[in-house]
Amino acid sequence: MEEGARSCLLRFRHRLEQDIKPSYLMDHMISDGVINVDEEERIRTQDQAVALLELLLRKDNRAYISFYNALVKETYDDLANLLYDDLPQISANAHKSSSDGWTPHVQMVLSEGGVPQRPVVFVSRPELLNRVRERLYRLQKEPGWVTVFGMAGSGKSVLAAEAVRHQGIIEECFPGGVHWLSIGQLDKPDLLVKIQSLCFRLEQSLDSQSLHRPPNSLDEAKERLRFLMLRRYPRSLLILDDIWDSTVLKVFDIQCRILLTTRNRSLTDSVSGAKYEVEVASGLDENKGLEILALYTKTNPQGLPEEARSIVRECKGSPLVVSLIGALLKEKPNRWRYYLCQLQQKQFKRIRKSSSYDYDALDQAMAASIEVLPDEHQELYKDLTVLEKDIKIPAKVLSILWDLEPEEVEDILEEFVNKSLLFVDSHNKPYLYYLHDLQLDFLVEQNRTQLEQHYRDDPPTSGDEECLYWIRFLTYHMARANLSQELYSLMFSLDWVSIKAQIMGPAHLINDYVEYGPILDKEFQEFLSLNGHQLEQRPFPDVVQLALSQPPTSEVYRQALLQAQDRASKG
Ligand code: ADP
Repeated sequence: MEEGARSCLLRFRHRLEQDIKPSYLMDHMISDGVINVDEEERIRTQDQAVALLELLLRKDNRAYISFYNALVKETYDDLANLLYDDLPQISANAHKSSSDGWTPHVQMVLSEGGVPQRPVVFVSRPELLNRVRERLYRLQKEPGWVTVFGMAGSGKSVLAAEAVRHQGIIEECFPGGVHWLSIGQLDKPDLLVKIQSLCFRLEQSLDSQSLHRPPNSLDEAKERLRFLMLRRYPRSLLILDDIWDSTVLKVFDIQCRILLTTRNRSLTDSVSGAKYEVEVASGLDENKGLEILALYTKTNPQGLPEEARSIVRECKGSPLVVSLIGALLKEKPNRWRYYLCQLQQKQFKRIRKSSSYDYDALDQAMAASIEVLPDEHQELYKDLTVLEKDIKIPAKVLSILWDLEPEEVEDILEEFVNKSLLFVDSHNKPYLYYLHDLQLDFLVEQNRTQLEQHYRDDPPTSGDEECLYWIRFLTYHMARANLSQELYSLMFSLDWVSIKAQIMGPAHLINDYVEYGPILDKEFQEFLSLNGHQLEQRPFPDVVQLALSQPPTSEVYRQALLQAQDRASKG
């Protein structure tokens, strides 16, 4: 249901709940086909008016209109008048329309499905777009796969999002809605988490009351999804963004409708059903590339300097690179020659060649973006290496990581976003920030070199590099992924206290307990604040012994006792 209609229902909800007699209204709505007999039955067992409104709020524009008509027929003229102004416009030719539909309805469907908005500077690519839409229309009558493939940064995700921003596609092909899922490179546990949250999202918008246990294996997840897509969301589209691995696709091989973006053309070989593809082979043509630079620098395309054309050529029209350079030029409009030279001379060789991308221009462009940041912000930006692919985080997490005031963090993030170094999901309040996967790869590459340097100068005494990383950041990642239960068990274990304090020192450990204090037990904090100084000593003290000095009723003591008994029994 579009925003205006929903907001109107919410505003007058109490009046409606007090005044209506649902049983008569529901008869009309059933004959309009907007609610079914099961739903009516369920409503009859509850406070009917409240339940009907609850249901209505989860329905589409047609349900609103049907409800309005029912009010008129049952002579609730006052109530009908309240709803009149926000009646959604369903135009007579909506189903024939091929225009670029930006109707509130399309907007609503896309934002509910998590489809990303257009980038700030956007140019249309009509030919490619039509090709994708034409393939999508083939999914109108039967399930199947549409693959959009091409190299990193070629604009596949933007294209996929744009393809569904269209009234005909939404209303004729996918009336069941569109659901966007960012995949990226991930392992099986991460994939399971993704599908769990997809199932949660789908189930929640159906019925907020029923709380299902999340599926706990990939097989179970696949079955849950199959049921949801077949029975509850028929004729809907799943968009899987940035797939690397065909094992991921197998989980989605459930006879539904899928649009996927990938760098690997042959992924769908291993799944069944109808398959169509669109290649994003070339970059932007020259004029489109120039248009981007013109939009960033607020000049008209004719007024661009001669270097502009060379820049577009040099990076072969890569939308990503042109946008990155455009954003740089927006800040420093007299640097056309400079950035062109940087691209041409491939001056940013610091990045190791293991990068999987076809040409260096991407790395170079990114290094250039980072280089213009003030020194202290460059350091902060490097800290973003701890983000994981496709995880979006609120500013608050960074204010912990950087130890800065939230307002300051917001300003810095805004700067990064404006320079195309970071992306923001503004569907969400508070805003969520994330890196483009190219940017993250770049940072990891760059940081790896630095890490190696660091350890050469100051070799770690125990544990390898990766292990150290985990000991340092595990709590942080868990907290960010909302794994409070897991975080709780980890930090609430004496083994962890002992390992982390030995390797990272008690300051890090105590810092964790302060940071995540609100979800933890006070006893552990007390234990650490009393014994922190001892954990600094070498040889490292016996944590179990220290813990045994705590009050016998405490969890710290209980665990220590168990460990002591365990030791005794092993001799
Ligand atoms: P891919 O999915 O192929 O890796 P994206 O679709 O994420 O690439 O695009 C990478 C970047 O390129 C975007 O963040 C945006 O800055 C720029 N870009 C892509 N397509 C367009 C477009 N049509 N207009 C303007 N900029 C674009």
